[in-house]
Amino acid sequence: MNKEELSINGKILHTPFGKEDVYGALNMPIYQSAAFEFNTAEEMEAAFKGQVADHTYSRITNPTVQYFESRVQSITDALSVTAVNSGMAAITNAIITLARTGSNIVTSQHLFGNTYSFFATTLASFGVEVRFCDLKNPVEVESNIDKNTCGVFLEIITNPQLEVADLKAISAVTGQHGVPLVADTTVIPFCGFSAKDFGVNIEIVSSTKYISGGATSLGGLIIDYGNFDWTGSSKLNPLVKEFGPGAFTAKLRKEILRNLGAYMTPQVAYLQTLGLETLTVRYERATSTCLQLAKRLEKLSQVESVNYTGLPTNAFYELSCAQFGERPGAMFTFDLVSREACFSFMNKLSLVRRATNLFDNKTLAIHPASTIFGTFSPEVRKAMNVSDKTIRISVGLEDVEDLYRDFEQAIG
Ligand SMILES: *Cc1c(COP(=O)(O)O)cnc(C)c1O
Repeated sequence: MNKEELSINGKILHTPFGKEDVYGALNMPIYQSAAFEFNTAEEMEAAFKGQVADHTYSRITNPTVQYFESRVQSITDALSVTAVNSGMAAITNAIITLARTGSNIVTSQHLFGNTYSFFATTLASFGVEVRFCDLKNPVEVESNIDKNTCGVFLEIITNPQLEVADLKAISAVTGQHGVPLVADTTVIPFCGFSAKDFGVNIEIVSSTKYISGGATSLGGLIIDYGNFDWTGSSKLNPLVKEFGPGAFTAKLRKEILRNLGAYMTPQVAYLQTLGLETLTVRYERATSTCLQLAKRLEKLSQVESVNYTGLPTNAFYELSCAQFGERPGAMFTFDLVSREACFSFMNKLSLVRRATNLFDNKTLAIHPASTIFGTFSPEVRKAMNVSDKTIRISVGLEDVEDLYRDFEQAIG
């Protein structure tokens, strides 16, 4: 059977190992070793020069991590996949590969809290300008792009605002201006969304979320689709002659990743490889429960509003269906009358856990304004559209009736 023609589950489960395992192990073993030895000085030289694909040191490559990367590559059909030790490491490594002092990044204020802080504080201190605009408006995106723009960065569904960017419209703008589109797709895994089909050039995933298989570990992925011409990038242009569309990956793997030292560890790669095996069944169940809960909570009088882009009443419903299908992820938010009502709800929960994180197997609730966004000033929170009245739910694998009963009693 031709493995290329398999559907996603077949590809995940049956991606071959790079080398046959000497014991015939069915799961890729954990190669828990910092370094790898060579028979001769010549073989060692060839490995260090990258002339052969042998492993030298686990900050650079490791067999277990590489196998995890190859599974992701087979399901995304990417040019390259790089696994790192958190979603933030994926974002920082990817952006540092693109940006230099004097360049700018066009993005939105509606970002994951640490991403916002990385852009607004860390990058700014190195002379990289961050231009916040309304990514729902492709004209505004276009007017912020200039010759120093090294990338447009977005989240496919913002969190916790749950805004959806029109990816075809934005990738048309970035394509026209020769600027790479970098998308954080953490909230919809590969089985629900294909970034490549919507013109994304570099995809970022926090694999801590869906892929880890129930919050087992932190991880991040940088996926390069090889669909961008880097000639116009002042930073990557010198690599184009040798690496062509692989210039970004070459810079990332040969310089940035090595120097920043955030490669994924083999134990984590093992856990996340197993997590991938159950990704589609978990996603189907959690998103089906999520939609049912969102619909039922909409009917409760104490709930001011429910925000889930899979609800036909949602302003982004059609765009969301076109990009992510009818069940856009397993996260939704709802508003109660006040901050006090939210705290009372949180405190009364008896099954649902009070915790940050997304897409654990357990359902989690959080009050974003007082936690994830708690250190931002009220003005910044307002600009980020993070309301005091909002609760965010990440739906897990419990039975929908058990969850609904807990919500009902905690709201009442
Ligand atoms: C969690 C998250 C991140 C950061 O990932 P970590 O693995 O926690 O570093 C980035 N973006 C989004 C959308 C996230 O949900």
